[in-house]
Amino acid sequence: MHEEADIVVVGAGSAGCVLAARLSEDPSRQVVLIEAGVEAPSIRVRQPNQWPLLWDDAENWGYATTLQAGLGLRSIPYPRGKTLGGTSAINAMIVMRGDPQDFDHWRDLGNPGWGWSDVLPYFMRLEDHFLGASALHGVDGPLTVSAQSSPSPISQAFIQAALATGHRPNNDFNGDHMEGVGLYHVSIRNGERCSTAVAYLRPAMQRSNLRVIQRARALRIHFEGDRAAAVDIWDGSQLRRIHANQEVVLSAGAIDTPKLLMLSGVGDPAALQSHGIAVRHDLPAVGMNLCDHTQTPTLFALKQPMAAAPTSILAEAGLFMKRTDAVNNFGADLQFFTFPQLPLTVAARGNAPAMAICAQACRPRSRGQVRLRSADPLDMPVIDPGYLTHPDDVALQIEGIRMARQIAAAEPLAALLHAELSPGLHATSDAALVAAVRATSGCVWHPVGTCRMGSGTDAVVDSALRVHGLRNLRVVDASVMPQITSANTNVPTIMVAEKAADLLLGRSAVR
Ligand SMILES: Cc1cc2nc3c(=O)[nH]c(=O)nc-3n(C[C@H](O)[C@H](O)[C@H](O)COP(=O)(O)OP(=O)(O)OC[C@H]3O[C@@H](n4cnc5c(N)ncnc54)[C@H](O)[C@@H]3O)c2cc1C
Repeated sequence: MHEEADIVVVGAGSAGCVLAARLSEDPSRQVVLIEAGVEAPSIRVRQPNQWPLLWDDAENWGYATTLQAGLGLRSIPYPRGKTLGGTSAINAMIVMRGDPQDFDHWRDLGNPGWGWSDVLPYFMRLEDHFLGASALHGVDGPLTVSAQSSPSPISQAFIQAALATGHRPNNDFNGDHMEGVGLYHVSIRNGERCSTAVAYLRPAMQRSNLRVIQRARALRIHFEGDRAAAVDIWDGSQLRRIHANQEVVLSAGAIDTPKLLMLSGVGDPAALQSHGIAVRHDLPAVGMNLCDHTQTPTLFALKQPMAAAPTSILAEAGLFMKRTDAVNNFGADLQFFTFPQLPLTVAARGNAPAMAICAQACRPRSRGQVRLRSADPLDMPVIDPGYLTHPDDVALQIEGIRMARQIAAAEPLAALLHAELSPGLHATSDAALVAAVRATSGCVWHPVGTCRMGSGTDAVVDSALRVHGLRNLRVVDASVMPQITSANTNVPTIMVAEKAADLLLGRSAVR
């Protein structure tokens, strides 16, 4: 059977759902969306406070990093969504755009059309914001952005304590400044998660020109010469070839998109040949430049356990601050989130109630890579984020612990806490704190950069997101970000997809 479409999109995640919905708005265009997972209507996906429990579910690829030298040779679990909505269906629902400077930096790296004034209209187009229409917010978009309905007393005490230590209040981190303390805005609609499947894909799925193929694993891109002509998939019972008359778009995320390119013979020739893969196109940057946010928790015993409301995202309160010796134009160098409920740490500590104040460098300098384990498409990729391999990143995490301690010592938070559990009061010297950072840090699963946008040898796609040196092939997901944004990466990924839809449809940029 010959199967074809005008545009074949691989991956129904944060970016892929947006693309499928926007591209199929043009009824003359046939769109196929290929997704390895299936729609997940489970309560765990829908109910906000359940997200940490999704790590072991079928909606997750169940990856893990390599042993990380910067983390004392520990491997970190690496959840990635495997369902309609992708990782937006398992994430913590925090809505952050990042710093306007992030995007001016992207532009200045040689990516015209990606500066703040270029991308702001797309951030506004994607959202239906509870604050109403303004010069910075939109209300007509598919993604519901709401205020938290049930923040815990601990999060509120954290905010008051941070104010008492001199931080400024901030009721909208996506407003005219990022610095300060407040509650995150969230992608929740009527008390339930608003993933890109809910916001974008579901309303588009009844269109006759959009076909979503679920439980279908893309194995490789089929080329005719230098033209991406089709995608080969395995649907659990048979191999199928889905032809693309116009373009193939990879939206499989920052881990699986470079994996697919490498399986298709696009990447570093020596690495491909070491797995017996024939080289289609020499593009050594594929899989390189992996960047992710590292977080270091400072843990405190709570006098009383506090249950999280079903609508709580758990990581409710946020703080953005400049580093003490900052010499840059960015609004913040460190991001914090509180964690009043600790399903993982609690289990490790005999159910003692505890809370965490987690700190993360906004723009880490450490870099890693994604590689193939073998030429078998069903094999897991090798994920090496290179956490804390740059000394500047370690120094920032230490500053984060010191700030977390200051806030925890201030009222009204101090009254809710017993002793510091980790790193523990004995850890005061720089050496002790470096050891603690390496022993206790984790990440927040924001991988970007593995198919970096740009024009040099370190780039994979150009500023129209076309893969260099090949025809009819684009990448549209978090992997194209040339530098990580200063905060969470879901909404920036949605913005990338909104802009990509205009590029694919030949529509002029929104203003
Ligand atoms: C636990 C967790 C919490 C997070 N919390 C937040 C948060 O609160 N706020 C925030 O902004 N960001 C958060 N993030 C990050 C954010 O969700 C991601 O940056 C974003 O979802 C990435 O989108 P993407 O489109 O690049 O990839 P994904 O959303 O991962 O989409 C990739 C899709 O491709 C599919 N796919 C992959 N390979 C194949 C294949 N071979 N064939 C077919 N389909 C395939 C996958 O199943 C998936 O559906 C979090 C991430 C995690 C893991």
